[in-house]
Amino acid sequence: MSVRWPAARFLLVGWLGLILAACGDSDAPEVPASTESPVAEVAEPSAAIAQHDDAYYDELRAHWFALEHAEKAVAERSDPIDIDLEETPLPADSEPSPQLPLPAPVVDAAAAPVIGIIIDDLGHSLSRGRRIIALPEPVTLAILPHTQAAKALASEAAIAGKTVILHQPMENGAALAIGSGGLYVGMERAELEQTLQTNLNSFVPIQGLNNHMGSRLTSDRQAMDWVMQVLDERGLFFIDSRTSAATQAAFAAEAAGVRHLSRDVFLDNERTFEAIDAAFRRALTLARKQGTALVIGHPYPQTLEYLEQRLPDLQREEGVKVVSLEALLARKYRH
Ligand SMILES: [Zn+2]
Repeated sequence: MSVRWPAARFLLVGWLGLILAACGDSDAPEVPASTESPVAEVAEPSAAIAQHDDAYYDELRAHWFALEHAEKAVAERSDPIDIDLEETPLPADSEPSPQLPLPAPVVDAAAAPVIGIIIDDLGHSLSRGRRIIALPEPVTLAILPHTQAAKALASEAAIAGKTVILHQPMENGAALAIGSGGLYVGMERAELEQTLQTNLNSFVPIQGLNNHMGSRLTSDRQAMDWVMQVLDERGLFFIDSRTSAATQAAFAAEAAGVRHLSRDVFLDNERTFEAIDAAFRRALTLARKQGTALVIGHPYPQTLEYLEQRLPDLQREEGVKVVSLEALLARKYRH
């Protein structure tokens, strides 16, 4: 145990250094100084980060979430059933981007209701990822590039028949570190494309992509167009995690002819059984109303335990079936 303290200090200093470096970037937006800012209230990860165990990654994920909580709250404040991107106000400093009309939402109340489930932020822990693979339903694994368990998890998931997507780090509005392989608004097209291609080549298989954080990058139509060109060339689909209400991702995907879906419900914004259950029930209600719903969760112990308990009897108890992302896309694009 004694070796952990120097390592803890080193990593904590490193973490703070990364944050300070990111905040010092002249291209980065200024973090509001107001004490009311959710960003300002986010505590730094503790010395547990030195252990590089599951507790560390839980804390890191909670930190990531807290950093983008304000924007996610904005994105979720609207009833997800009635989300209308065209009515979402852009930040005052944003240029309006050209927008094509989106296709009508997937509404097929006559068909049996189905939900898709994605678990984000995988790749750091083999054991957590394996619990997703072991779930009885076709839950999708969204794996971060250049993480220690990425290759093993992707191949094991494929053997088990689970869908694997790249969880692509994208620049967030708080100018905080997003990890290896990140895409930034300031990148030239060639650099952005090369970074994305490297990530897409870093493990197999990859069937699609969704964004890790990305409240800033997904709001940039030009960057999103470049991302979609790569996905189109590789025949991959896109899932918009919707970490910003101003996201342009769905419009860019539509313009590029990339099949895409958008997240309806975050499962574990609050990590208690009651809150996760309430979010899951919101997804079930949405699926019954419009035929489908797309849920994103994270590999927290509470989320894993909830899904392990809930999924085996879900269809019998609720009449709602968990299907793969490919099945959700097939419903949307079957015409
Ligand atoms: Zn993420």
